Amino acid sequence: MPTRDELKAKALEAIDQRREWIIRAAQTIQDNPEAGFQEQKTARFVSEKLTELGVQHDTGIALTGIKGKLWGGALGPTVAIMGELDSLRVPDHPKADPQTGAAHACGHHAQLGMMLGATAGLLAPDVLSALHGNVAPIAVPAEEFIDVEYRWNLHQEGKLGLMAGKQEFIRVGVFDDVDMAMMVHTTSRAEDRKFAVGGTSNGHVVKFIQFIGRAAHAGGAPHAGINALQAAMVALNALNAQRETLRNEDIVRLHGILTRGGAAVNSIPADVRYEGRVRGNTVAAIEDGNMKTDRCLRAGALALGAKVSIVTIPGYLPMRNDPLLMETFRENAARLVGADQITLHPSTRNTGGSTDMGDLSQIMPVVHPYVGGATGTGHGNDYLIQDWELAVINPAKAMAMAVIDLLAEGAARAKEVLEQSRPPMTKAQYLRLQDARLREELYEGR
Ligand SMILES: [Zn+2]
Ligand SMILES: [Zn+2]
Repeated sequence: MPTRDELKAKALEAIDQRREWIIRAAQTIQDNPEAGFQEQKTARFVSEKLTELGVQHDTGIALTGIKGKLWGGALGPTVAIMGELDSLRVPDHPKADPQTGAAHACGHHAQLGMMLGATAGLLAPDVLSALHGNVAPIAVPAEEFIDVEYRWNLHQEGKLGLMAGKQEFIRVGVFDDVDMAMMVHTTSRAEDRKFAVGGTSNGHVVKFIQFIGRAAHAGGAPHAGINALQAAMVALNALNAQRETLRNEDIVRLHGILTRGGAAVNSIPADVRYEGRVRGNTVAAIEDGNMKTDRCLRAGALALGAKVSIVTIPGYLPMRNDPLLMETFRENAARLVGADQITLHPSTRNTGGSTDMGDLSQIMPVVHPYVGGATGTGHGNDYLIQDWELAVINPAKAMAMAVIDLLAEGAARAKEVLEQSRPPMTKAQYLRLQDARLREELYEGR
């Protein structure tokens, strides 16, 4: 039986041989950005690449998702290696789609390159047959929780249950035969150096709000109307007034966008829509922020005599990195870039963002490290991958090597991970929690 180091050498060689193929795949995806649950072209492309590698896979899961399976030489745990299919919308990004404003301003195109690269590495001759367990390459839709109204409509039509990719993957059972999962996100933060592991993230709930007024001639008969835009403005000012009640340690973020401000300038706005977020680093902090948000929304409606429809959609849960998976990843990343180029963040470090990898981390051991190679501001119009070797090839190698550590030698390491890990909830408990977080209210404004 080959040693783990021999298996890793084979995997690294296979990744190096496919270097151009892997980077070109990530770049092609960057040039064809699509927002969540609309990643048809991206999914078709990833499916073609998996077919080129000879990987059996299912497509169209949760609308656009993909799951493949690589069978090891003997039975054992299944490790998922994942990438996210969706882009953001940043219309003035240099790589934005001019029609849709979709742009890969969060580096998810790099993740798909990594996932394909790690898969190619594990397909090197004699590697899989030495593993006790399986590998599931997965391309997940819709990590960025945007286009809220679109997703709410899909939910109402019964096409989606939960409204983000990994959430819905959990619900429909994609992870039922997966024991642990890993993915690597790109970063432009200097303090993350070449790789960063550890830290947590905010959870959140998502708001879809409609202020309902009454149209009337804005010049001739404004007294006959009810101005939904003014109601929204009172509500948003009230929300700003709330900020002094938020505790620093809860890392609450209240933010959102108006997606409709009215229909015609000479008609009192009767239909105004707002998509928002309530983030916080505990479920209790999110609940508190959400209660205050709803109060502000009702206050705006009450002031103007408008109605407000408040839909609260279950968002993400805080991220928990599994310590042994983290260590397994860190060791392998260190072989590539040197231990001094890896940042280890304390488990409480939270920069305020959120990911549905947090949801998965509540029900199984996961690791969600960061890799450098990007410049600019995450979600900004200048976020670009500059160093493709660092941002795509290195994490592909680190994931492939981590999988070998987990599943070689009778999968001893993976079994240790499973024995030590204490996920806070089962899948059933997770689904019940998210169910309870979905709320609809129509406040009549009187
Ligand atoms: Zn993002
Ligand atoms: Zn992202």
